[in-house]
Amino acid sequence: MEKTIYSYLRHGITCIDSGYIRPNMAAIYLIEHKSDVAIIETGTNHSLSKVLAVLDKKKITHSQVRYIIPTHIHLDHAGGAGSMMKLFPNAQLIVHPRAAKHMTDPSFLVKSVVDVYGLEKFNALYGELTPILDENIIKAEDNMVIDLSGRNFHIRYTPGHAEHHICIWDEQSKGWFSGDTFGISYPEMIGLKTRHIIPTTTPTQFNPEKLLNSINLLMSYEPECIYLTHFGLLENPQDHYEILSKTITEYCEITQANIKALSPEEEINKIISEIEYTNLFKVRPNATLKEAQSLLGLDINLNTQGLCYWLNQ
Ligand SMILES: [Zn+2]
Repeated sequence: MEKTIYSYLRHGITCIDSGYIRPNMAAIYLIEHKSDVAIIETGTNHSLSKVLAVLDKKKITHSQVRYIIPTHIHLDHAGGAGSMMKLFPNAQLIVHPRAAKHMTDPSFLVKSVVDVYGLEKFNALYGELTPILDENIIKAEDNMVIDLSGRNFHIRYTPGHAEHHICIWDEQSKGWFSGDTFGISYPEMIGLKTRHIIPTTTPTQFNPEKLLNSINLLMSYEPECIYLTHFGLLENPQDHYEILSKTITEYCEITQANIKALSPEEEINKIISEIEYTNLFKVRPNATLKEAQSLLGLDINLNTQGLCYWLNQ
């Protein structure tokens, strides 16, 4: 069996590599407090064995898992929710109200991804989605407080990447589980002095104004750290939020300036790639172009598609 990669981050938080596509791509966070456990993000069906391996290692029983909280229902975040809920008898799923119906009946979610990827690739990436009973789903309200054995987590609505995106504030560690709201910064983007970060402008609900507002909302809590789904612990978020916000605006300007080009998507992709690879090389001067492409190529493709979709609506 494939190895389970995970790391302990203090405050009872463990970052588990979901195994999605490649190492360090998508995280699942396990939070232990007293005898209770919450899981933020589920990865895909193929991630389940990794979560179980960590629970086993920590001698946590299935009945100790109380909450499963995907930040949104893109399948690298919530694809494994159904099969996870089946295994944990005391767990409740917490999602944005708009997301709940797609968890009880995942057929629309499946169709929209199969339409893009085809069934074979869908199965290889995600596997069959299991429906969740409505009675086991908590439809999160904005500002809702979740109590994990006396440790408080606050749910905030953070649209911009997706309309139904939520972020989770951990009072104890003064950190956000940010999903895709605070961008992407893989461990391979960490240099000696700083780290490179890029926004996620994925189709089909990217909205720059909402995303910038959501980032500002996160910063208004004066977070000490951010738990990125893509990927891992980001310390001193105040050092990164300006560049992140600036990049979102820059992406939109590039899209507006090139949307009438002969092949706009190709042109925009080329410009953004150049910017992001150059910025990566500033942080990691020894990285090769090939490494940069394999690290960020997929995200830049998705970002370009999302930007074009946004402007063409
Ligand atoms: Zn994501």
